[in-house]
Formats: sequence, C-alpha cells, structure tokens
Amino acid sequence: MTQKNYSSFAELGIHPNILAAIAEVGYEEPSPIQAKAIPEILAGQDIIGQAQTGTGKTAAFALPILSKLDPHSHHTQVLVLAPTRELALQVADAFESYAKHLPSIKIAAIYGGAPMGPQLKAIRQGAQVLVATPGRLCDHLRKDANFLSEVKFLVLDEADEMLKLGFMEDLESIFKTLPAKRQTALFSATLPASIKAIAEQQLNEPKHIKIAAKTQTVECIEQTYLMVYPEQKNTAILRLLEVEDFDALIAFVRTKQATLDLASELENKGYRAAALNGDIPQAQRERVIESLKDGRLDIVVATDVAARGLDVPRITHVFNVDMPYDPESYVHRIGRTGRAGRTGKALLLVTPRERRMLQTIERVTKQAVSEASLPDASSMLAARIKRLVKTLQPFTISNDTQHYYLDLIDKFTTDLNCTTEQLAAALLRCISNRRPLSAEEIERTEPKLTPITNKREPRERKERSNRGDRSERKGRGERSERTERSSRTSSRSNDKVTEGKIRCRTPVGSLDGVAAKNILGAILNEAGINKDQIGKITIRPSFSLIELPEKGLDKILTKLRDTRVAGKPLKLRRYRED
Ligand code: AMP
Repeated sequence: MTQKNYSSFAELGIHPNILAAIAEVGYEEPSPIQAKAIPEILAGQDIIGQAQTGTGKTAAFALPILSKLDPHSHHTQVLVLAPTRELALQVADAFESYAKHLPSIKIAAIYGGAPMGPQLKAIRQGAQVLVATPGRLCDHLRKDANFLSEVKFLVLDEADEMLKLGFMEDLESIFKTLPAKRQTALFSATLPASIKAIAEQQLNEPKHIKIAAKTQTVECIEQTYLMVYPEQKNTAILRLLEVEDFDALIAFVRTKQATLDLASELENKGYRAAALNGDIPQAQRERVIESLKDGRLDIVVATDVAARGLDVPRITHVFNVDMPYDPESYVHRIGRTGRAGRTGKALLLVTPRERRMLQTIERVTKQAVSEASLPDASSMLAARIKRLVKTLQPFTISNDTQHYYLDLIDKFTTDLNCTTEQLAAALLRCISNRRPLSAEEIERTEPKLTPITNKREPRERKERSNRGDRSERKGRGERSERTERSSRTSSRSNDKVTEGKIRCRTPVGSLDGVAAKNILGAILNEAGINKDQIGKITIRPSFSLIELPEKGLDKILTKLRDTRVAGKPLKLRRYRED
C-alpha cells in the first residue's frame, strides 16, 4: 500500500484551531480510518468509508470538513445525513466539540420528534453544518426548497442503516435539492448493492477506504463482554473488580481524560491504580510500569498509545473499557495478558451502538466472546468476606506478640462498654472500608445498572422491515423507545398498576442521567403531594414511568407542567400501553 502512515493529527493537515480542540478532547493519535480518510477528504476526494460505529468515523469526516469550511459564509455548507435522532445528536455534538475554537461556525441538528420552529430558526440563522435525519429534513424542504443550495460537502453516515430504515425515497428527494458540484463522503458498515448504486449515482470517482481485518488468533485468554450504557461503565467496572480475582490489571480507554477519571475513581475505592497516557512525562510513565511490575500498583488505566510496548507478566486481566478501533487493536490489547503460557482474562464493555463491532471481533478472531454476568449482591458479599478472611489470616497465627492484643481486648471492651463480639464487629466494619457486609445493604447501596440484552427484540426486527411507514421517520430514539415499551409490556403482563394509581410517562430516562430519586424529589417539591401518594417509579433508558394518584391527577399534572429534571422538561402524561 502506498498510503503514508500518519501517526499524529498535526501531520494530517488539520486546521490548527481544530488541533487545539482535539487535544482538549484528549485524542492522542488518529484511528486507522481517520489516518486514511482525512488526507483524502482534505484533498477534495469523494470517498466510501467502510467503517462502523466505534472506529472513529465521525472525526474521520468532521475534522477535514471543518478544516475546509468557509467561516465567513453563513449558508449551509455541510449536510450530514444520519439514520436516527440519536446518531444525529451525537454527530452534531462531535462537530461542536471539534469546532470549539472556530467561533463563527454554527452547527444545527435537525431530527424528528422535536418542534420544527427552533430548527428552522437555526437554519435561517446561518448554521454552516446541518446534521439531519432524512425524514425531518424533507419536512423542512417542503417548506423551503432552497436552503441546501450552497452545500459543498455531503456526508451519508451509516448509509446502510438509512436504507434499512426505509429512507431511500427521502434521500432521493434530498439529492435533487443539492448542487451537483460538491464533495461527498459515504460511510457504511456494509456495502450491499443498494448502497453501491447510490455511490455510483451520487459520488464522483470515489476512493474506497476500508480497514483490512486480518484474522488473528488469541489463545489462553478467556474472553467475555458486557453490554452497558456509556455512562454506567465505571459502575460496572467497580462491581466486576469486586469479584474478580486479579493479580494485575490493565484497563484500556480512549482518551487521556478517561485514564485520569477512571484511575482516580479506582483509587478512591481503595485500589492501587494509576493512569498512563501520552501527556505523562516519560520518566513518570516508566515509574508507573515498574510499580505495576513489582506489585506496588495493581491497576493501570491506559490509552493504546501510552501502553505501547508494555510487557508485564503479572497482568492477569485486560479490561477494554472503551471499544478498540478494530479487531487488530483488540487482539493487541488482550495479548497483554496470558503471557508465558498462563491463562488470562479479557473483558470488553460494549455499548448498545457498538454491538456490531463485537460481532466483527468475533468473526475476525474466529472465537466467540461470551457474555459476562454482572455480579449480584450475594456474590459481591461472598467476595468481600473471602478478601477479609485472606487479609486477617496472617494476623491470626499465634505468635509471641499475640498476648498484647488479647490484653487490650479487656481494656477496649471496658472503655467502649461493649461485649467482645461487639468489639469484633466494630473492627470488622473498620477494616472493611465501610463496605457493607450484608447482601441487603449491598443491594440497597450499590448504584443500579440498567440491564441490556444483546439480542434484538422481535418487535424491533419487525419494525425495521416495515420502514415504509412514514410515521416512523423520527429515528431510532423513538423506535427503540417503542421497543423498550413493547418488551416491558410483555414482561409486565403480571405487573399491575397499584390500586388507586395511574401510570404516567415522562420522556426523561437513565440516558439523561436521571434516577428514581430525582424524579421523586421533583414531584414532591412541585406537586405538593406526599411520598405515599407516589407509587412505583420505573426508569428506562429513554423514558420513565411513574404511578400517581388517580384522584386529582389532572391537577397534579398541571402543577408539574413546567417541572424539569436533570435540565429536561418532565412533560408527564398519562401512559397508555398500546
Ligand atoms: P465513532 O466511531 O465516530 O462513533 O467514535 C467512537 C468514539 O471514539 C467516540 O467516543 C469518539 O470520541 C472516540 N474517538 C474518535 N476518534 C478518536 C481518537 N483519535 N482518539 C480517541 N478517541 C477517539
């Protein structure tokens, strides 16, 4: 391959203000798809990028496009089409963060399920970058057919997903409104004939960019994965660490900031942990690795760049906290354990959107990765007790100094006015770092994790194949919500609403960072009712259900009309199962 190997963003020719923003986000080096796509896009080439979520594809198109924008023109210059509201928001957020030091660049997200007015205003106020779902964009085009006439860059993101969701017709009408002279990048995980046909018609001699996946084998490593929402990763890790019997562990994350955040969270919980990233001076990095080797440290949280060349035979576990960019990098990471014929363990955290990368890893490594189960309260308790026994063991072997302690027991029980058993219990509490030693207490105090199944719900599959229905154009956010609702409905057939209560629904859920206590607090504060009047609260990723008293419900809903939780309007409505 004649392609130059780019190992830094600066070498790629990105605008200096964008380089500053990338440094702040904490990216250390371009991902493989970025190293290949960025120079092509900067050179004005149309591309087909065969890449899926998790490869860094958003930055692969956002960084060069932002570098080429004309900040003085207040027309829409960039149109990114994405299949779902969720992805459109994510891409718009990514653009925002990369454009942080490009003051005159405005970015707007256009998607269904939200009022048209503010979106129209953003378009009219000269957002140079529009990130849109096709259905809603067509709704806007029906009102004003001209606002895309100055578009210079078109990106079709997750093109295969857009077609699966039935957006072909919408895409065709959008293409008609775009200038013929423009640069186009099409990103798709797969390239079925329908996508190739679009590429043929809409792209100009495109270059096909694909990151080759070589088959790699990994032996002596027990591989598992756990599905988790991004914001619950650290909670999941802390819980897994409690029951894992590890010697040394390396946790891989993507950004410098993430190394610092996780390492400090682990230190706070009493683990001997340190961060390893490209910003840490070489001498200090070497000290961290030496400490991991000789057992003064047990956990290192590293980026791929900083962990390069790290060879520590003590490593029994590799945690892939953030998804690697490709299977090759996965194999490379987990190869840090299972050295010298020993067995090692590798865990991969997978967010719902990264399911496909998990499948790619399994295909390329020709090995199944099994689903890990999240430890429950009783297994956490068993692990805590086992650890305490192990800690106490060396101190119980009688020796010459033992009698001092025995003598002191009398003094302590007298001074504290307690029995020997009560003293022993207090000491246990002391050495357990105040971590509860009863399953009920653990259950009560542990942060809750939202379970996710890796299998698509049958209803979701059906909805996907029925995408001709235009009412479903609003994107995955709403679609998955329906799926969640349908799966809950079936699992809830016995779950009756409490007598005298009505189930109400808010579009705020755990993905908005909301817990039951926040909703409860907001309702108690603003509705003027007491706690007993509120029934079950069920938090789902993108919505929540709350039981409220049947009597006086309308009044309560009126009082809560302007209530906000986690910065979002509560918008409580009676919930109807359909
Ligand atoms: P994407 O495949 O575009 O959805 O990106 C997946 C994740 O990788 C996002 O959280 C990005 O912020 C992150 N990411 C993208 N490029 C890099 C990079 N060069 N270094 C570290 N993280 C990155």
